[in-house]
Amino acid sequence: MELWQQEWKDRITRRAELERFLELTPEERAWFDRYEPGGWKADPAFLAPFLPFALTRSWLGRMGRQPDDPLRIQTVPRIAEARQLPCESSDPLFEAVHSPLPGLVHRYEDRVLFYAGRQCGLYCRYCFRRHLTADPEATGQPFAEPGVSDSIGRSICDRAREASQYLKGHREVKELLLSGGDPLTLPDETLTALIEIFRAARGDLIIRIGSRMPVVLPSRITSPLARLLGTYAPIYMIIQVNHPRELSPEVVEALQRLGRAGIPLLNQSVFLRGVNDSEGVLRDLSSSLLAAGVIPYYLFQGDLVAGTGHLRAPLSKGISIMRALRQRLSGLATPRYAVDLPGGGGKIVVPLDPPPRLDGGNYHLTDPQGREFSYPAEG
Ligand SMILES: *Cc1c(COP(=O)(O)O)cnc(C)c1O
Ligand code: SF4
Repeated sequence: MELWQQEWKDRITRRAELERFLELTPEERAWFDRYEPGGWKADPAFLAPFLPFALTRSWLGRMGRQPDDPLRIQTVPRIAEARQLPCESSDPLFEAVHSPLPGLVHRYEDRVLFYAGRQCGLYCRYCFRRHLTADPEATGQPFAEPGVSDSIGRSICDRAREASQYLKGHREVKELLLSGGDPLTLPDETLTALIEIFRAARGDLIIRIGSRMPVVLPSRITSPLARLLGTYAPIYMIIQVNHPRELSPEVVEALQRLGRAGIPLLNQSVFLRGVNDSEGVLRDLSSSLLAAGVIPYYLFQGDLVAGTGHLRAPLSKGISIMRALRQRLSGLATPRYAVDLPGGGGKIVVPLDPPPRLDGGNYHLTDPQGREFSYPAEG
């Protein structure tokens, strides 16, 4: 077993282990109170899908002990996750509708997304794929969404072979996104097999890997892994950093290993309440990313996913912060502020100049086809 695999196995997944590092707040305790080995306590008040708990020790080393610590907010569960707001659902992006095969999403003409598994390095409490990413086996915790395991539960290489057949018949697809779940939780051999299957079917595919592993478990980025990915260029990697304090020296070294191997690095952040919903934090984040060789690509408005309302920073605030940031940051340092239109409208960049029309507490946003969607200003 490699070092990173040992560290992955040694993640903190139990309340008692976490309590050795910090004192839980009443809201955090209430979340853990719902969990008992073998399942959730039956409770009709718990409306949102359940996402397990896991933290890497590397992440914990960067996390402050205060309840409002930006890394703690992202990763220690609170009981507010049980809540579902009227504007929320478990699949607001209608990904299921655009899924020609299990674990493959073809929503935009020229790119597809392939789910490379259901496991992650740690579980982000705002995760918008919570209806399918969380693997109960990974943490020994239950997974309370029926009918999910049979949709992508088969061998990942079998699914990749089917997906590559699909891509042979769909030449309009130019980019393949490996996402999930986190593709870099797979061992090197599986990752190699996956890439080989897709490249054998379509040598012209641009591959993008979406992973939070360089940030949450930097030891995963071994020199052999970086070299391996480098041999399959062009491969782009999209990481996810939400707060500058996530970029510890070990993380920066991992990113530099990827950069030296010829992997272009981009970042996607999620706009999160109490984490990065301020101009100052977002400015520091952009400059820290660029210093680490990473281009700020997207800042995403949080999707209207059940159980994440307490973490979503409102669209109105995002618009005003981004309008101010644009005056102060270089083009390279400025991420695109984007929202995935609920109801399957797809991703759009939020217009800032002029900002979208606001009426009755909703912004009116238009998709590329000219269809209008509304999005709650304060939701
Ligand atoms: C986000 C996303 C993509 C990639 O979109 P980009 O704007 O090119 O980053 C592709 N497919 C799906 C289903 C997505 O959600
Ligand atoms: S790494 Fe991505 S898929 Fe995994 S829990 Fe975090 S947001 Fe969800």
